Amino acid sequence: MPKDQFETLAIHAGQPPDPTTGAVMTPIYQTSTYAQEGVGKHKGYEYARTANPTRTALQDCLAALEGAAHGLAFSSGMAVTDTVIRTFAPGDHILVGGDVYGGTFRLFDKEYARFGLQFSYVDVSDLDAVNAALTAKTRMFWLETPSNPHLKLADIKGVSQLLKAHANKPLLAVDSTFATPYLQQPLALGADLVMHSATKYLGGHSDAVVGVVALNDDKLFERLKFLQNAAGAVPGPLDCFLILRGIKTLHLRMERHGANAAAVAEFLAKHPKVSTVYYPFHSSHLQHELARRQMRNGGGMMSFVMKGGAQAARQVAEGTRLFTLAESLGGVESLIEVPAAMTHLSTAGSPLEVDPGLIRLSVGVEHVDDLIADLDSALGN
Ligand code: PLP
Repeated sequence: MPKDQFETLAIHAGQPPDPTTGAVMTPIYQTSTYAQEGVGKHKGYEYARTANPTRTALQDCLAALEGAAHGLAFSSGMAVTDTVIRTFAPGDHILVGGDVYGGTFRLFDKEYARFGLQFSYVDVSDLDAVNAALTAKTRMFWLETPSNPHLKLADIKGVSQLLKAHANKPLLAVDSTFATPYLQQPLALGADLVMHSATKYLGGHSDAVVGVVALNDDKLFERLKFLQNAAGAVPGPLDCFLILRGIKTLHLRMERHGANAAAVAEFLAKHPKVSTVYYPFHSSHLQHELARRQMRNGGGMMSFVMKGGAQAARQVAEGTRLFTLAESLGGVESLIEVPAAMTHLSTAGSPLEVDPGLIRLSVGVEHVDDLIADLDSALGN
């Protein structure tokens, strides 16, 4: 059979027409249990926490898009992170990227640290620092690339080679939420595990909270699958359907997100009230060359620092018309937020603390001229 391209997989992988009725769209199997023909004799489905056909379709589609042997879906991105962390034991050290979603930091710092897991944070763009931060107890390096909210990149191939050369071969886990499988393929570059908050670009319409993870290792997959059932943080069938439907247009949306965001970054970089713009495909980005090597385009996420600090950032975030002031990201509609006071509030007082003058944008797929006019007006206030 010929190998299908990304766009084709996004529409078809894991979701052939329904064998019972021919329905073109994957049915929403809204059931908690399944009839058995005899005791223990069934069609592969016993109870919906363990498995559900709509979830199976999403898991298979995700695995195909990441070029992975296995995919698993959870009730949120945080449920993925939580499940992965449960595979470790007290005393284990987990190295974490120095710029991560506030909720990830909160789970590590405020919850798992009290169970004896050790976390330390490192600049993912500095391979020497990463090497120096590995200890005899390091079992995993968890990072985001691009990172939230500073759009820092990790050289996935470089980091993975470094980890594989280390005596205890820590796993490399990449939170690829900002990039999606369309823009970058972490497993092909040597990562052991790739996860997404599917709530964001995979769903793409801000209407479902789901998390997904893809990997090749059979043993780790079995462990995560066991935990998916044992701890039970599973997504409902309607949410799986919504993410599957969103994925069908992922490639189209990511092209427009990338084009719009590149134009917005160019506009902001020239604006007299803005001091720094963080966007991987803007020429001012410190890892611009790596971005072009590792990613298909720069994606729809960016952040920028207001010269006027916290007060100015709040004013702009509250002064837009089309950019909605809201947490989250990755939907077709543009969003604006102030991370220090919103998504990254949990990092206050920690080394991961965010500049209160930083604004984060999720650039949507509206007409770019309207988006720039909206920002121009808010910045002019
Ligand atoms: N990873 C990143 C980069 C995120 O931005 C988020 C949420 O904003 C998460 C993980 C958590 O995902 P969820 O909100 O689906 O639990």
